[in-house]
Amino acid sequence: MEQVSGILIVIFHAGIHDGFSNGSGFKMKEITKKYSNGEIEIIWKPGTCIHSGICFRGLPAVFDPRAKPWITPAGANTEAIRAQIEACPSKALTFKMLSDD
Ligand code: SF4
Repeated sequence: MEQVSGILIVIFHAGIHDGFSNGSGFKMKEITKKYSNGEIEIIWKPGTCIHSGICFRGLPAVFDPRAKPWITPAGANTEAIRAQIEACPSKALTFKMLSDD
């Protein structure tokens, strides 16, 4: 299982860096991606992600680096999504409750 997780992290890492790195190691402008189920908005900053794999090991029905888009908010209920986001060690994942608007 650890090997599978390692492979996923490599895929995830490769996918994330497509499109925002110029290959020189210079970090280009911060990209923010947003995904919503109507109750919660999942906010992801790929430039902040440290590729720990915690999100997709913890809630693979929502966070799947092999899928496009890689975040599917319909894969779990809002409370489960919120709890998983709070476990992100880098804070690349944050959220906004849409009822707060
Ligand atoms: S838990 Fe956070 S830091 Fe880890 S892979 Fe997911 S988004 Fe990136």
